[in-house]
Amino acid sequence: MTQSGNTDVVFLPLGGCGEIGMNFNLFGVANQWLAVDCGITLEQAPGALRPSVQMPDPRFIAARRDQLAGLIVTHAHEDHLGALPYLWEQLRCPVYATPFAASVLRYKTRGRGGVLPSPLIEIAPGERIDLGPFEVEWIPITHSTPETCALSITTASARILHTADWKIDSAPVVGAAWSSHRFAELGRAGIDAVICDSTNALKEGYSPSEGDVAAALGTVIANCAGRIVVGCFSSNVARMQTLATLAVRTGRYLGILGRSANGLARCAQQVGLLQRDFQPIHAQHLGYLPPHEVLAVATGSQGEWGAALQKLMSQTHPDLALEQGDTVLLSSKTIPGNESSVKRLVEGFRNRGIHVIEAEESEAPLHASGHPCRGELVDLYQLLQPKLVVPVHGESAHMRANADIAREAGAQMTLTGRNGDLFYLSPTPGVRRRFAKVGRLEWCEETERLKGAA
Ligand SMILES: [Zn+2]
Ligand SMILES: [Zn+2]
Repeated sequence: MTQSGNTDVVFLPLGGCGEIGMNFNLFGVANQWLAVDCGITLEQAPGALRPSVQMPDPRFIAARRDQLAGLIVTHAHEDHLGALPYLWEQLRCPVYATPFAASVLRYKTRGRGGVLPSPLIEIAPGERIDLGPFEVEWIPITHSTPETCALSITTASARILHTADWKIDSAPVVGAAWSSHRFAELGRAGIDAVICDSTNALKEGYSPSEGDVAAALGTVIANCAGRIVVGCFSSNVARMQTLATLAVRTGRYLGILGRSANGLARCAQQVGLLQRDFQPIHAQHLGYLPPHEVLAVATGSQGEWGAALQKLMSQTHPDLALEQGDTVLLSSKTIPGNESSVKRLVEGFRNRGIHVIEAEESEAPLHASGHPCRGELVDLYQLLQPKLVVPVHGESAHMRANADIAREAGAQMTLTGRNGDLFYLSPTPGVRRRFAKVGRLEWCEETERLKGAA
């Protein structure tokens, strides 16, 4: 190990720094490492039917796995836990996750093969445990999937806060509302470094809350006459809960179309995150209902081939057929790179006289991002008053913008870099560029093996 002194606390991103996706972070002190998240990126090659599954090359920490105290999953999104079934065998360390994230990890591992981490230890938001030289506290933070936690990581000489993905949501629909209490306490106690989400650092203001989205969806749905199908990300459990509540309120029945939306809803139900009015009917029954009683939530808002929305558009869905006068509402954003497949989907519906409402084209908040805009970043930095901020979870423009915001909000210093750079967090901040070998691996469906990716 090459840390210069025994009390140096370092941060080493192997994925997710300089890109959005496949997060894989390491914290180190005194020859001991703690890993945070292990995610994938889905890349759609032109002409390919299915996106390829890409993930960070773990070779640096795999070669030192006897020094790895454990791996913490901050939340249930694919870019934070999706690579674990493929990479855990190379790490063989205990994995810690909240009950919902653990449930999603079990579900994903069953669905796609790979190996379920063992032991997989469930940690309730708010808990605190010791992992080698690290004392870790799971601090609940609001995001677009439930039970997301920021991590307060304390060593003998330093206090670090890893924000995970977050936003300020005072009405998240599922789970507790944003609370600044614990962050303010930590700020008063003194924080050496914050590792922070940069996804929306180029956007002004604040992201709308799930509560705002619920109100806007309620207005649209109350004014629709025929069938309504809402496309949203299947990990957005709050959005599904909102639709269940609106179904009851508007005299409709909720159906869930798509395997991943059904799977994620079951995971959320298992751990008790959904309310009593969450009572979806079997999708096969939707086709027998009069149009004004149908409200369906569907996967495939990115226009993915073979997903529920694409089947509805091409009239090949086994459970539901849409007709002229029905409405498709895309309660989502188009992920960069998917513009043409979303356009194909929208035009396909419109050509058949089906009304399409896209959140991105609407004045009302029909979708909310799960990441902090400029105003939210300023608020958190002012609470934490950190000495150092290291932006991650973004391309370089996002990370640079986040660093500028941090300095304006009073952070003494910022450091930006990329995967493989070793960041010294404490006692003396600095960066050693290209410290660790990094790269991408790709999961090959045919051989069920990992191979190097370009
Ligand atoms: Zn993420
Ligand atoms: Zn996330």
